Amino acid sequence: MVKRQPQTSNLNPESSNPQPATRNQQPPQCVISGRTQIVGVIGWPIEHSVSPAMHNAAFRALGLDWCYLPFAVPPAHVADALAGVRGLGLRGINVTVPHKQAVSALVDELTPEARAIGAVNTVLVRGERLVGHNTDAAGFLRALREAGFAPEGCSALVLGAGGAARAAVYALARVGARVVLLNRTPQRADALVADLRAVVEGARLEAGGLDAQTAQQEASRCQLVVNATSLGMWPQVETSPWPEEVAFPAGVLLFDLVYNPRQTRFVRLARESGARAVDGLRMLVHQGAEAFALWTGAAPPVEIMYAACAAILGGK
Ligand code: NAP
Repeated sequence: MVKRQPQTSNLNPESSNPQPATRNQQPPQCVISGRTQIVGVIGWPIEHSVSPAMHNAAFRALGLDWCYLPFAVPPAHVADALAGVRGLGLRGINVTVPHKQAVSALVDELTPEARAIGAVNTVLVRGERLVGHNTDAAGFLRALREAGFAPEGCSALVLGAGGAARAAVYALARVGARVVLLNRTPQRADALVADLRAVVEGARLEAGGLDAQTAQQEASRCQLVVNATSLGMWPQVETSPWPEEVAFPAGVLLFDLVYNPRQTRFVRLARESGARAVDGLRMLVHQGAEAFALWTGAAPPVEIMYAACAAILGGK
């Protein structure tokens, strides 16, 4: 029997303070009417998620009678949660760790991206059907371009082979990048490369183990290094995927998908060495903005969404 964590409700009367949530402030709340459209996020755990603050800020900014709720769903109850999305008439749901792969097998339809990546981070309810999307790939590309990096045809080194790496490598392969994928468990990197070669025509992908010698060798040939491992993420803030004995490559963009904390050890050490490093928050906002647009059909207020997240996570 899985013990459920206690949950707090955010269905309190609306705060008169329109500022986004901060650590020291009561978060501004939704006004719930009989017509309120509900979306949310499922994950386990979920209390760390900044997505409720990000989406509710966007709904308020556009005057939409919508509300975004966090749902702590243990792995044993993912199928129940999906049935609830349909049964309760939610408009959609975001999916986070550890459910992205499980949900891809539970929806009625997958977009080509979600199928290729093998993970769903956004479900859209279309009539009676649950459609699984993956907006991480598009969010990653947008954040890269915003950082002034043109990924088309580049050489990239991606560290990690989990769900986030799948989205990043898919996005890069689709724009013709050559990608070397290094992972602690090399078999997982091999499997990712084999899966994506089968769905992205002409994909230039190689896989290997994450060790200092290979990292150094590959970094010298690329223009982009992506951390798609969970190293550096709170509470493991003193960890980094980059081997300490290897200098950060010069003239390369270092992109960390981790956004909590904003400045990971990887980003901090890279910046201290004079390298250019970007944190994962803009990607988080862009994947959320894509989901917002899918659900509401409205243009997402990206900078308001960003400010709501930055108010919680701090940093630059
Ligand atoms: P995941 O599926 O659990 O994959 C974790 C990856 O980290 C695997 O490659 C794993 O290697 C590696 N790893 C874990 N511990 C390690 C260690 N001690 N040494 C070396 N490698 C280690 O997680 P995910 O969903 O891909 O997420 C990865 C990160 O991306 C998380 O921090 C997540 O928050 C972030 N993310 C950010 C965004 C965004 O919008 N910015 C979106 C999605 C995810 P093994 O295969 O060897 O276990």
